[in-house]
Amino acid sequence: MRKPIIVGNWKMNCTIPEAFELVKRLKMMVSEVKGREIVIAPPFTALSSVSHALIGSNMTLAAQNLFWEGKGAFTGEISAEMILDSGCDYVIIGHSERRQFFAETDDSVNRKVKAALAGGLIPIVCVGETLAEREAGETFPVIERQLTNGLNDVRLSSSEDLVIAYEPVWAIGTGRTATPSQAQEVHAYIRGLLKNLLGEAAGDIRVLYGGSVKPENIDELMTEPDIDGALVGGASLKADSFARIVRFKVHGMAKDTEHYL
Ligand code: PEP
Repeated sequence: MRKPIIVGNWKMNCTIPEAFELVKRLKMMVSEVKGREIVIAPPFTALSSVSHALIGSNMTLAAQNLFWEGKGAFTGEISAEMILDSGCDYVIIGHSERRQFFAETDDSVNRKVKAALAGGLIPIVCVGETLAEREAGETFPVIERQLTNGLNDVRLSSSEDLVIAYEPVWAIGTGRTATPSQAQEVHAYIRGLLKNLLGEAAGDIRVLYGGSVKPENIDELMTEPDIDGALVGGASLKADSFARIVRFKVHGMAKDTEHYL
């Protein structure tokens, strides 16, 4: 059973006091939620303080990036050990904004994935096509290239050690969401690809959808069989909207179920 997971990517937002305020409100709003994982990814500067604020809560932490080297003369970079030390379980890798603005490639994603796994972190690997690629009918080949290269030589001991986020670039921060069936089609494709690349057990790797997820569309997205959760940007910066996304309902039911406990 794949436990649903909702991840809030705060991007470059929130000073430490702002992060505390957001976490304080979120903790109150989601404290009763069971059967789904709730992860937030504040900026590096707030990780350590937020991790203390999360003690005893049902939320865990992710970093938004890492560098593959362990230590040394790499000014401005952060290692897996440092991220773990800041209280994180997860790390987001290969977000389209990093590919677009910081020249990340499938090869750098691959090095980061290996460093994260070796360092005891769970990578959340982002893949997705641009609008031009979708319109040219290249969605599947793009995803195949990103995953084949990004996961090259990656070995998992459990399907829980990796999360994939399908984030069509045209849907990120644009207000334009993939329809549930568009997302489902790619999620099913990703699941098949993961089995080919990593073995049958990889069919249980969780695949999240990201791209303008909001309280208004989460329920519909989560009814799709291969959508295991969401990577949420803008809507994760408001406690009430993120809490509603975390409390998604499937067919009108809260689906906080014992299956996942
Ligand atoms: C994201 O940052 O991964 C994202 C999907 O952003 P938004 O929800 O704002 O589209």
